Amino acid sequence: MFVGHFAVALIGKRLEPKISLGTLVLAAMLPDFVAFVLMIAGIEGVRFKPGVVITPGMRAIDALEVSQFTYSHSLLMGAVWGGLLAAFYFARRRNKRGAWILFTAVVSHWVLDFASHPPDMALAPGLTARFGLGLWNSIPATLIIEGAFWALAIIIYLRVAPAPSWASRLVFWVPAVFLTLAWYGNIAGPPPANPSIIGYTSLTFFSLTVAWAYWCNRLRPVVQNVR
Ligand SMILES: [Zn+2]
Repeated sequence: MFVGHFAVALIGKRLEPKISLGTLVLAAMLPDFVAFVLMIAGIEGVRFKPGVVITPGMRAIDALEVSQFTYSHSLLMGAVWGGLLAAFYFARRRNKRGAWILFTAVVSHWVLDFASHPPDMALAPGLTARFGLGLWNSIPATLIIEGAFWALAIIIYLRVAPAPSWASRLVFWVPAVFLTLAWYGNIAGPPPANPSIIGYTSLTFFSLTVAWAYWCNRLRPVVQNVR
């Protein structure tokens, strides 16, 4: 998924307001961050499917496949990355509930990617079985299901952390709209000319989204007693 992972982060803020939204975005996107770093290192990667002929109107997800993905995106490794992040957070903040929520946010990445990807999700490195429900094969179904999840999470977040000023409103909405358009481009758009740079471009893009989430967290204090 794409905005679905950000939805998890926004809902996490409702469940445990003490965690920064930036940390929650980092958690929900952690397997992708691991993948981008491993792509740059040449260990994981995305490539054109063998024999594919790129035709006008072809979508990226129909033309590309992952070559290696199990260190960042298997269920077992999701639990490992989640455990590491939760342990690091707990060591610093002594917040058990927060640590559990971060762990769950990281593991949720596998579940959401399992729902959206064609079968390319493994249970553990070294296992050959691949799973995926392929929601992304249908643009309308993706817009409805992942889009509804994203919209619902935004509503929940805006109730937990309402904007105290116009500036804080803009800081949230401009990137949120941009993120929504990037998501649409990702599911409907053509494949990139050069998949080998995806690691660099995505690492930059999603690092900016984490910085954005920390910024929103500063500008929008949480109101207590949200019903
Ligand atoms: Zn992912």
